[in-house]
Amino acid sequence: NAGLPDEFGAYNEDPGFMSRYLGDYIDNGFVNIIGGCCGTTPDHIRAFADIIEGKKPRRPFAQEPLMKLSGLEPLVIRPETNFVNVGERTNVTGSPKFARLIKEGDFEGALGIARQQVENGAQIVDINMDEGLLESDKVMTRFLNLLGSEPDLSRVPIMIDSSKWSVIEAGLKCIQGKGIVNSISLKEGEESFKAQARTILAYGAAAVVMAFDEQGQADSYERKIEVCERAYRILVDEVGFPPQDIIFDPNILTVATGMDEHNNYAVDFINATRWIKQNLPLAKVSGGISNISFSFRGNNPVREAMHSAFLYHAIKAGLDMGIVNSGMLEVYEEIPKDLLEYVEDVLLNRRPDATERLVDFAEQYTSDKVADVARKDAWREGTVEERLKHALIKGIIDYIDEDTEEARQNYAEALEVIEGPLMAGMNVVGDLFGEGKMFLPQVVKSARVMKKSVAILIPYIEEEKKKNPNAKPRAKVLMATVKGDVHDIGKNIVGVVLACNNYEVIDLGVMVPAEKILEEARNHRVDVIGLSGLITPSLDEMVHVASEMQREGFTLPLLIGGATTSRVHTAVKIAPGYSGTTVHVLDASRSVPVVSSLTSEIHKDEYVKNLRKEYKKVREDHAKRQDRKEILPFEEAVANRTRIDWAKAEIPKPAHTGIRAWDDFPIAEIRDYIDWTPFFISWEMGGKFPAILEDPVKGEEARKLFADANHMLDRIISEKWLQARAVTGIFPANAVGEDIEVYTGEARDEVQAVLCMLRQQVRKRKGQPNKSLADFIAPKETGISDYIGGFAVTTGIGIEEKLKEFDESLDDYSSIMLKALADRLAEAFAELLHKKVRMEIWGYSPGETLRNEDLIKETYRGIRPAPGYPANPDHTEKMTLFELLRVEEHTGITLTESYAMYPASSVSGLYFAHPDSDYFAVGQLGRDQVEDYAGRKGMTNEEVEQWLSPNLGYDNKPVPANREN
Ligand code: SAH
Repeated sequence: NAGLPDEFGAYNEDPGFMSRYLGDYIDNGFVNIIGGCCGTTPDHIRAFADIIEGKKPRRPFAQEPLMKLSGLEPLVIRPETNFVNVGERTNVTGSPKFARLIKEGDFEGALGIARQQVENGAQIVDINMDEGLLESDKVMTRFLNLLGSEPDLSRVPIMIDSSKWSVIEAGLKCIQGKGIVNSISLKEGEESFKAQARTILAYGAAAVVMAFDEQGQADSYERKIEVCERAYRILVDEVGFPPQDIIFDPNILTVATGMDEHNNYAVDFINATRWIKQNLPLAKVSGGISNISFSFRGNNPVREAMHSAFLYHAIKAGLDMGIVNSGMLEVYEEIPKDLLEYVEDVLLNRRPDATERLVDFAEQYTSDKVADVARKDAWREGTVEERLKHALIKGIIDYIDEDTEEARQNYAEALEVIEGPLMAGMNVVGDLFGEGKMFLPQVVKSARVMKKSVAILIPYIEEEKKKNPNAKPRAKVLMATVKGDVHDIGKNIVGVVLACNNYEVIDLGVMVPAEKILEEARNHRVDVIGLSGLITPSLDEMVHVASEMQREGFTLPLLIGGATTSRVHTAVKIAPGYSGTTVHVLDASRSVPVVSSLTSEIHKDEYVKNLRKEYKKVREDHAKRQDRKEILPFEEAVANRTRIDWAKAEIPKPAHTGIRAWDDFPIAEIRDYIDWTPFFISWEMGGKFPAILEDPVKGEEARKLFADANHMLDRIISEKWLQARAVTGIFPANAVGEDIEVYTGEARDEVQAVLCMLRQQVRKRKGQPNKSLADFIAPKETGISDYIGGFAVTTGIGIEEKLKEFDESLDDYSSIMLKALADRLAEAFAELLHKKVRMEIWGYSPGETLRNEDLIKETYRGIRPAPGYPANPDHTEKMTLFELLRVEEHTGITLTESYAMYPASSVSGLYFAHPDSDYFAVGQLGRDQVEDYAGRKGMTNEEVEQWLSPNLGYDNKPVPANREN
């Protein structure tokens, strides 16, 4: 049961939302069968079918014992796991920098190196403190303890690396989860080997077993397999060590040393790996990769190429993991062909003079810098068309000015440069994106290159147009976030993707009134209009824009997109009021086929015909479905409120009441509370963080995106791009009927504000209450002194200036990145403040020790429902909250006419402390409740109906079905 949390109740109507949401589960192999009860429509089933398409069924559990490691998070090595990389830089013998930091006692700096490894994709971190002058046991203990308090580092399993047993034991005492000991061997005979293995077993760790015995290191193939087999038998048969937890290290030894007897070392290792995997069931194989290239010390390009080529062959033979510098691995396919040949000659021992030839060839790579530049810039030798294409596909902006200029001079007209080489490149990008081989962040980077190039060509094209006014222009798409709404990440992404596909995008920005949209559409003679919005009042505004288009005789296609929009809403509420074609566009990748169908002379008619048929069906299904919901009389819903035994309730008295404000809260602190999963979703990369970083398909791009994000966060902090401001308040309060009264003081004789709440009114299963947030505050008649809190935070102060810079330099990638990060920071700040409130300000959970993952799951006591969200869907309640907390004065956040918060990166809500308080969706309301609510709010019924239109469980006014759409 995928169990959609209640909080998504409001969006259940939207199969697209469900499929995105469930997609995460499915990608992670959690869902086998999907079913649904009432309310599941054929659209939902179809959406599910689409996401399951092509996915392999989950393997049944426990077919064979898997190696399961963990730090704070599990790392399970499955048969299909390709390769696990173990970060090597936290090793005093291998990394001079790490050694220096440790010797100087700079443990913070040393942790930084571990962090780099993890950020660069290390899935395990190897830690070695074996240095003559160090008290290795103590240093190991200290380092591991520090590392244990850094959740972003200790999420990965630890490999304790030492040749001293006492250091290993010291390490085993510190690590949490299940780590790996590196290493034990038969070097000192069977007895001590067995004793050590038993100890490791007692600590519950896995073990690396070196191919060493009493005679020394196994260097040939025969010796390697002999020693490993013997060790395996002892461990499995005598000690009872789980075979899946044995990792053999059959010694990666240095090749190309000039000694002939070393020439076959790599081959021997690879063959031994294959033998172990075939003959010693469940055992794993690992190795220290950088040993292989030791003779090329100082020549990183050659070393990196050797490592990648070696890994390529060893992984094919079954190598499971390797100790590597994860930040320094060349991609096998990208090793220059000549270098690869020389390297493979050496590794695979293909010719007697292989070493000499590689040494000669490597000369040209001796200076890292020169070599790097030479290697990176090989593509610069291609034709200008090839260069433009390469730059577009790779998103390289460095040479685009000169290449564009060169291309322009080669062609008769500037437009040909766009239609020729640039489009050729962008077509490849589009195809790869369409096939899922390229991800949105890469596309946005490619678009940045395209935009820059086009900007150079535009003046010339304008000139050409004057000479040839009949040239066919590109299709134009006008985009706007509707009046009252300030959110535009999604819209900007769609704009970028459309621009990549050679559409001219005219972006009117945010908070754009209908008149302006229509006026600009006329001025620019656009071919399509796209509307975007995030908050529910924007839905109505879109209906309004559509009706205005109808009134003014527009016939252009209208695209609808944004978080609260849905196909159902588009078909039911927007399309009927406009005779042109109205389409809901789920995400950026769908925007291209939709726009191209709508602007194509050949396909348009067919497309529109099908679409209208589809939407008609959606409307019919919707109408049928609505009939089934039974709405209770309001008094019955009130009578079925959440049962809380107030006589027994423990109501903590707040440590502090009243308002508190923070003017410039350190963003460095907020950063630790970020929930990254939604960040990846905003870049259309669905998947749970941090697993997404190791995803076999998306992992590489996800890691790049994550690294870019962290890099920008560093700058946000060090260069003070953004300012975080917040206000919280805790007040005496009691429930009075359906409302919550907030008092000026403990005497509770003066009402400062009334928070009006809405109650679930759809008939519930037996025993289930019809909830309202008012249920979670003690009713006045109980005589109990209860409290309520509220907050508003923003991390968007200062963002405009920076965005302007990015927009001026045509850098959509950075602009979208900054917005996405600011949004994340706002949510993180809300999380951090909520914790502060629970622990100190209200102080009802002073000893809370939850990790960030738990905070993200909101496992703590109490909730912070946001006005406009499913539990109190009325956005106008934000006004009451803002006045109560004097939000604008304290934080600078303002409300638009639709009650969106500006800056966009802002969050607000109420605090409830009662342990039974939870999130729910108010859902459909009856007319009787709406009228009652209007009376309490001092609004007319029509006003309330307008603000709550998505929640109306009855038809307030018939939809103008003026045409058969
Ligand atoms: N970690 C997430 C946090 C935001 S989503 C992030 O970084 O994006 C969860 C928040 O949404 C809750 O804390 C609450 O403020 C709001 N929320 C969720 N469900 C709600 C509901 N049913 N009613 C009101 N607010 C809700």
